[in-house]
Amino acid sequence: MIQNNKPLYLYLHVPFCRTICSYCDFAHCVYQESLADQWLDALQKEIEYKEINPHLRTIYLGGGTPTSLSCRQLERLLKMLDPYRSETEEYTVEINPETLDDAKASLMASHGINRASVGFQTSNPELLKLMGRHHDLPMMHQTVERLHRCGIHNISLDLMYSLPGQTMADLAQSIQDALSLQPVHLSLYSLTIEPHTLFAKKDLHHLSDDAEADMYESIEKTLPQYGFHQYEISNFALGDHESIHNKAYWNYQDFYGISAGASGKEGWHRYDHTRILAEYLKDPLKTQDIPLSRKEAMFEMIMMGLRLKCGVSRKLFAETFQEEIMDVYGEKAEKLIDQGLLEADPLYLKASDRGYEILNTVLVDLM
Ligand code: SF4
Repeated sequence: MIQNNKPLYLYLHVPFCRTICSYCDFAHCVYQESLADQWLDALQKEIEYKEINPHLRTIYLGGGTPTSLSCRQLERLLKMLDPYRSETEEYTVEINPETLDDAKASLMASHGINRASVGFQTSNPELLKLMGRHHDLPMMHQTVERLHRCGIHNISLDLMYSLPGQTMADLAQSIQDALSLQPVHLSLYSLTIEPHTLFAKKDLHHLSDDAEADMYESIEKTLPQYGFHQYEISNFALGDHESIHNKAYWNYQDFYGISAGASGKEGWHRYDHTRILAEYLKDPLKTQDIPLSRKEAMFEMIMMGLRLKCGVSRKLFAETFQEEIMDVYGEKAEKLIDQGLLEADPLYLKASDRGYEILNTVLVDLM
């Protein structure tokens, strides 16, 4: 059996942004006050219906841009979640600098938010303009100072690479500028151009596979020099600042997915909310359920777990499925171990350094 108990992790999607970035394919729409009020009414219905576990370990407010809400609306949202946070260790909010002020920052801290994930992306002004982002480095410094003043010290920055026209020097400068903000966690994602985005319409492209691989390699080499360790393909932390919430996904834990654009996993099924806000407002309880077979669930656990540097916990796999991982995947896993792409010790099955570089191929072979 997968876990019987209620999820300990909650993701809530705020589907509004003040402006739309040129590369973005997330579920979002441009903020309008009255629409956000209607969304909060619908959200309240969903939260009341769900009978959420009051012992949540993490809450993650993502988007969209949670801080695009007005102070009044943000307060309403945070109050809705107050009953579930008394034992919460990590309470994260995604932030775009231009939508945060002192009032919102102190409001968030007073409702238990203790971690911020800030959209930094790059410090190159031309690239930021091309991406449709409305911040610069001085604004980033103000944002981080504002968060610290309110007691939110656990700060992560999101960076992007393989941006159109980006050079290695641009990336190196962005990393240095990001480090000057003294974050304790960094996420670095390569650009993918999704259809229907402004980038796709303008026929803009990410860099070649080789250039992207060079950038990834330089990230992996640079960040450890500043004390960051890589714990997942795209994520680096100082000390014990690995994201508890994101590790729950990679360790295949159950989680609530709340609001339009969110997905969740509870027991033997996943569920997706509609990405269309008007549909969510009509029926916030409607989701599309995707039942998971035992085989699918096992494979998903491996697929997520191998993203972690430490790999898939053999104990967790056995507890979840009452079967040993090597009894299920032994023959294929042994072959990959012989090829130097996987490594197994008594606690974990993990990708080797070489296997990590070609993880998708390793997963296809395991299937
Ligand atoms: S702020 Fe984030 S969610 Fe909103 S459009 Fe930009 S990238 Fe997308």
